[in-house]
Amino acid sequence: MECPYCHTPQTEVTNSRPTLSETQIWRRRKCLNCKEIFTTHEVVDLSHLVVIKKSGKSEVFNRSKLYSGIYGATIGSKTPEREKVVEKITREVERELLFLKRKRIMSIEIADIVLNKLRKTQPATFLRFLAYCKDITNESQMRRELSKYVFGDGLPRFARDDESVKVVMGMDSGSSPE
Ligand SMILES: [Zn+2]
Repeated sequence: MECPYCHTPQTEVTNSRPTLSETQIWRRRKCLNCKEIFTTHEVVDLSHLVVIKKSGKSEVFNRSKLYSGIYGATIGSKTPEREKVVEKITREVERELLFLKRKRIMSIEIADIVLNKLRKTQPATFLRFLAYCKDITNESQMRRELSKYVFGDGLPRFARDDESVKVVMGMDSGSSPE
């Protein structure tokens, strides 16, 4: 990072933090030459992250795939401002991926990050996303998967409720208790 005052490349980071809702990192830097202090906002770049799919094939991280995967799980839900909610979750996932500083990641690991975000705030979307990314097609499979997610603060009541599982597994009905 070049100093904007004297253009020397020798600067040091004196403070940094992720910005709250953006996929950016705020950094305070000090020039080692002229001692000026300046701040930078560095945008998340995941274009080099390689995602290894269940099939074993790999591809470069694709934000729109992540977004549409989450978006697809909200279909049928009555969540107001779905686009906004999905955009927010997508950004949070991107931020988490950035902080992992990995060069390669399994698609299922990304799915787990998404699921952990959804499970507290969007239970119906959580169930649909779980069904989607783990290829769940019936209720008993769903219950088995769900049992893996009851840890720590646990699942919201909704996601543990048998009726909800039934409704979500009947995804084509278009109805949702959310
Ligand atoms: Zn300088």
